[in-house]
Amino acid sequence: MNSSQIKHFDYIFTGTGLASLMTVYKMVLSGKFSDKSILLLDKDAKKTNDRTWCFWEKEESIWNSIISKKWDLALFANENFKRDLDLKPYSYNKINGLDFYNFVFETISNQSNITFLNEKVTDINELETHVFVGTEENRYTCDYLFNSIYTKAFAEGQTKYPVLQQHFVGWFVKTEKEVFNPEKVTFMDFSVEQKGNTRFMYVLPISKIEALVEYTLFSEKLLQKEEYENEIQIYLEKLGVNQFEIIEKEQGSIPMTCYPFWKKNTKRVLSIGTAGGWTKASTGYTFKNSDKKSTKLVEFLQNENLKMKDFHKKNRFWFYDLLLLDILYRNNELGSSIFSSLFKKGNTKLIFKFLDEETNLFEDLRVIMKCPKVLFIKALFRVVFK
Ligand SMILES: Cc1cc2nc3c(=O)[nH]c(=O)nc-3n(C[C@H](O)[C@H](O)[C@H](O)COP(=O)(O)OP(=O)(O)OC[C@H]3O[C@@H](n4cnc5c(N)ncnc54)[C@H](O)[C@@H]3O)c2cc1C
Repeated sequence: MNSSQIKHFDYIFTGTGLASLMTVYKMVLSGKFSDKSILLLDKDAKKTNDRTWCFWEKEESIWNSIISKKWDLALFANENFKRDLDLKPYSYNKINGLDFYNFVFETISNQSNITFLNEKVTDINELETHVFVGTEENRYTCDYLFNSIYTKAFAEGQTKYPVLQQHFVGWFVKTEKEVFNPEKVTFMDFSVEQKGNTRFMYVLPISKIEALVEYTLFSEKLLQKEEYENEIQIYLEKLGVNQFEIIEKEQGSIPMTCYPFWKKNTKRVLSIGTAGGWTKASTGYTFKNSDKKSTKLVEFLQNENLKMKDFHKKNRFWFYDLLLLDILYRNNELGSSIFSSLFKKGNTKLIFKFLDEETNLFEDLRVIMKCPKVLFIKALFRVVFK
């Protein structure tokens, strides 16, 4: 194929998952990009229910119609105490991955300027006047590229910023006995054996007999699959479940790091999603952040003088996350006590607001003061004088 046969687009999205689909969907809603040609590339057809997204929110959003379940009540527990958290005015919302993909594709597939191709990207090369993209089948060029393909080696190949994983295996189970309270999500249950790590159970109950039960760790190294599954089994037994059916399984490993992914942004290439640092480093939550960042990105793209490097703005929450990760990286067994001190007496709404990076300095202090102070002061010295 010679260069005249290479198809050119205004924008190419390499990876068509959460961040790309949110961005492109909002580009369509804005009505400002109908004259731009857009190519979406993904190695996957995006036709499977490959993940369940949960996020807390106060107001209704454009995703409201695909929320399959909402909870106003959550349980936080460890081996010594249980606390019911009243989430209002927030609700904890669940969206099934496939519902999200179908919802967005239904809109974008009607746009003549947008093309989705199920092709694996093998090469991205930025040149002075354009960006070149190679797939296993074809070659393309574009003016600007948005990349959400996560390259593990970037964060994990350095030592300056600690990298933990939020890793989990979940079983969507149907039990014979009624054991779940469909009104109350189990946010974090640290009553499971910690084994030197930060380990907890996360339960999304759909009905009295159906729930997604996930064994989750915030730690550096993944476990063997059987270990997650054994722990789910033990937990179900503790709940009094003997007979159950596994309807679906999910698993994941989400990087938790303050590594500055955005430093890789260039004149024409912007990393987005987890690959762009859109994952909240201290929690692994990405949905809400991607929602906010994609809205900002769509506004940003309407600037006359587009400089991709100017998109990212660092804030003080990045630094708070860095402190927590520094502690958990060195003393992974402390997660249960840190999260417990935060949730035992802390104001849930304020914690959510803080995690959403919407608190003022005074409110930040109110949240941080609930955490073990000596640990954080020591981490502060380590991080500042590193
Ligand atoms: C099982 C699971 C559950 C999660 N639950 C939550 C949750 O409850 N709440 C929350 O906030 N976050 C959650 N997350 C974290 C985060 O929201 C998701 O990982 C989210 O999908 C990240 O969005 P993204 O666009 O960065 O990446 P993705 O959505 O993973 O999109 C990246 C895309 O790139 C494609 N790709 C990769 N390599 C190539 C290649 N070489 N060529 C072409 N395409 C390629 C992939 O197929 C994928 O479609 C969860 C993650 C997982 C895995």
